[in-house]
Amino acid sequence: MFTELSPKYRALDIDTVVDYVRSRPELLEIFREGEDLEAVEVGDGNLNLVFKVWAKADRRRTVVLKQALPYVRLVGESWPMPADRARIEAQALEVEYRLVPQHTPRTYFYDPDMYLIAMQNLDDHIIMRKGLIQGIKYPHFAEHIGLFLARTLGGTSDLMLDYRTKKLEVARFINPELCKITEDLIFTEPYRRTERNAFHKELEPQVLALQADDDLRVEVAQMKEKFMTHAQALIHGDLHTGSIMVNQTDTYVIDPEFAFYGPMGFDIGAVIGNLFLNYAAHEVRTKDPDQRADFRKYLTDTVIDLWKVFEREFNSFVWSQVDPINMPPAYQRDYMVRLLQDTAGLGACKMMRRVIGLAGVVDIRGIEDVHERAIAGSLALHIGVALIKRRREMQTIEDLVAIATECRPTYPWKE
Ligand code: ADP
Ligand code: MG
Repeated sequence: MFTELSPKYRALDIDTVVDYVRSRPELLEIFREGEDLEAVEVGDGNLNLVFKVWAKADRRRTVVLKQALPYVRLVGESWPMPADRARIEAQALEVEYRLVPQHTPRTYFYDPDMYLIAMQNLDDHIIMRKGLIQGIKYPHFAEHIGLFLARTLGGTSDLMLDYRTKKLEVARFINPELCKITEDLIFTEPYRRTERNAFHKELEPQVLALQADDDLRVEVAQMKEKFMTHAQALIHGDLHTGSIMVNQTDTYVIDPEFAFYGPMGFDIGAVIGNLFLNYAAHEVRTKDPDQRADFRKYLTDTVIDLWKVFEREFNSFVWSQVDPINMPPAYQRDYMVRLLQDTAGLGACKMMRRVIGLAGVVDIRGIEDVHERAIAGSLALHIGVALIKRRREMQTIEDLVAIATECRPTYPWKE
């Protein structure tokens, strides 16, 4: 079914990884020949092996190795997955590094026999989702991610690439098996009864009502069609807050193994949808009303700011370069409004599946009390439904935020 696994492939472990590092001449700019190295396996991801290796004498000299397994790590060999996805990830990191080096981990090399990427260790950053759950604000995030989105999406689209390069890039990033995961887990399974759905019984009445909503399923089908057919730009494909590493000064986007040519709104919507999932979680996570309102204002301001930065950067990086006869200003304005509406609809699908489907987010699934968890889940579902159903009303990012923030949880469920 998949491309053959290289005969030279072997999965590394904590004992073999050090010898592997020593065998790579590319890493001699970090490590000295023969010096003592220390390694750990990180292992909080769902799909792959991630090792961190340090020089014992100086922990600032370090590298991260990410290796694909021929199956889904979390589930095991019963769920095969092409290891070649590491090539897609390495190619995407290369494109992103070319367009926005300040927000992309540096890659030292890609090993096609081992399906392994050696990259910069971002240890002085944390996964953004963890920070947001603790109520930590990242003042530069909107500026950084807005720029990342404008450059990576604009710079890989037909708006910027010549006709042939674009098509060759589409071919180089064909990623059917990982797209299929998204098609199933995000656009299909949450809207029907399946064993893989994983919502808890307190939420069942609301989930059943949502699944019985014919109008909603029409909207979701439109979003799925867009995901499958709209080869607009090279998208990251999994740009949730667990794929972003931050601190108070920097922002890095990691893990683009789901990259392919798809709709830009899927990436922007992933970021915004995950900020709203966190917004919903703080309904119960932050008990003090003033503190909650304050953090939520940070989240909604971030949504507004990141879109505005995206627009500003898209103007200077893309629209100022295009032919104004083929693409007059009114077309450009219409393009941005359609993109905003895609963002709302695709982001909504990302939100709903995180409550109903197989892979949840810790923001919500990590809430211990089941009733509190149901309150947060209920709110997240209402925001998702409102964003997808009312997306055609949206002309500005403020419209999107107003529609989301009008929503309230309904738990216990009432029709
Ligand atoms: P997966 O594709 O299996 O989900 P990720 O790329 O998300 O793997 O990586 C899993 C975890 O490893 C991340 O959540 C993060 O904690 C850590 N990690 C990944 N890349 C780096 C890096 N360059 N620097 C530091 N930590 C990293
Ligand atoms: Mg991943």
